[in-house]
Amino acid sequence: MTVQNRHRIPCPHCGVNLRVRKSQGLTPVYREAVFECRNEDCGWRGKASIEITHTIAPSDIPNPTVALPLVPRLRDLITKQAHAANG
Ligand SMILES: [Zn+2]
Repeated sequence: MTVQNRHRIPCPHCGVNLRVRKSQGLTPVYREAVFECRNEDCGWRGKASIEITHTIAPSDIPNPTVALPLVPRLRDLITKQAHAANG
């Protein structure tokens, strides 16, 4: 079975899709990865970081050590629900 990743990251030099060589999670929300260009004529290799910045839909099994800000839409929704519950 082949998994097609629809969210490709292009090489900054030639635009061909990059391949992840390795990735390392430094914290639950921060990861560093080494990318390699798939274009043999290019040969670029580099590092990238991936940081999870916001919650769009909350987890049903939340990790207590992870405190992520909510996206504004979700924050407004929770605030309205709290107001409704209070009165
Ligand atoms: Zn390239």
